[in-house]
Amino acid sequence: MVPFTVKKNGNKVWIGDSGKVYDREEILIHYLNMDMSTLDGLNRLLAEYKRKCRYVIQYAANYNENVHRAQGLLLTLASFFKLQPPYSCLDIPPRISDEGELIALLNQYKYLFGYGRTNEYVDPRNEEERFLADEYGFEDVVTGEAYLHAFYVDELILEDDEYESDVIDLNRKIEQLFDRYITLVDDAVRVKNVYAPFLDKYNNEDKNKAVYELFHLPTQPDRGKQLNASSAVKLIYGVDEKGELCRVAEYTSLGDYLYMELMEGLEENSVPRKCANCGRYFLQPGGYDTEYCDNIAPGEDRKTCKEVGAKNTFDQKVKTNPIWQLHQRAYKTHYARMKKKNMTQQEFLNWSEKAANLRDQCLAGKVTVETLEAFLTEDLRYKKK
Ligand SMILES: [Zn+2]
Repeated sequence: MVPFTVKKNGNKVWIGDSGKVYDREEILIHYLNMDMSTLDGLNRLLAEYKRKCRYVIQYAANYNENVHRAQGLLLTLASFFKLQPPYSCLDIPPRISDEGELIALLNQYKYLFGYGRTNEYVDPRNEEERFLADEYGFEDVVTGEAYLHAFYVDELILEDDEYESDVIDLNRKIEQLFDRYITLVDDAVRVKNVYAPFLDKYNNEDKNKAVYELFHLPTQPDRGKQLNASSAVKLIYGVDEKGELCRVAEYTSLGDYLYMELMEGLEENSVPRKCANCGRYFLQPGGYDTEYCDNIAPGEDRKTCKEVGAKNTFDQKVKTNPIWQLHQRAYKTHYARMKKKNMTQQEFLNWSEKAANLRDQCLAGKVTVETLEAFLTEDLRYKKK
């Protein structure tokens, strides 16, 4: 999209001149938790339009229609990414031009097109005209007005040698324009296709093996499935918002930035992890292993994933371990007895302390299950008062 500057001091990150502060890896986590279902696979469509919007006779038949459909898609993508960090922090004009980049580019070469620029105004309130706008045009997000531009590849011009180098130039620029968007989509979906599975492996399995495999991914044409470490990042030093020395990096792509966040996190031994309860990624404090995040758990009002997770782990333990099962069953019986006053509170506390002690010894293999069971079911004393 557009280049951006990132200032970094310790665990804080400033994007551009917005003054907006992020924690380290917060933007990476934003993309890890993003729903990529609509973005994934969009590059096949963009690649198709990249081909069909070139000025070649092969695609002359539906050229105008393809151009407007493609431009609609590019505008949707641009407005989507403008809402995501780091772009949401940057002062990007609402629209690069009135009609979008592709149309603006084609209009620079309007002499190559049969009809040239018509720029007819379409009233979106008029049923018939709105149909035209849907079919060929797009709505102006600011004014709600729709514009219609017609492009028809002219066969005669195509065969005219005089314009040959212009056609070559135009086609190169069209491809570059689509490539910028394809890269943007690749950079985002890479987080889901490459970084997320890597992090899951790194956090739950063999760290070294996960890192080795990340750098030795099988070769494939889809760049959204490769590790991207291609373009250079310009790094200088400056002062941050508080006047302290900080690193200032200039990034030309989202992918470069996310790559740096992940790699720096790995260096610091502090990378995002998937919460075992809600499935969202969160940053775990350096070196400390925790499976659950501190956010409110799904379907809960106040309980965090950490609290819900601790209970689930306990329930799981009880469910799968016969010693715990024995203990919990007896605990519930005795607790009920105390509530019904068939046992005093002190008697219950004494009992539960002994029971927990015996349970732990049994878990450690120091006491047989039979001994524990005998103690837990020896309850005649309390049956009647
Ligand atoms: Zn969670």
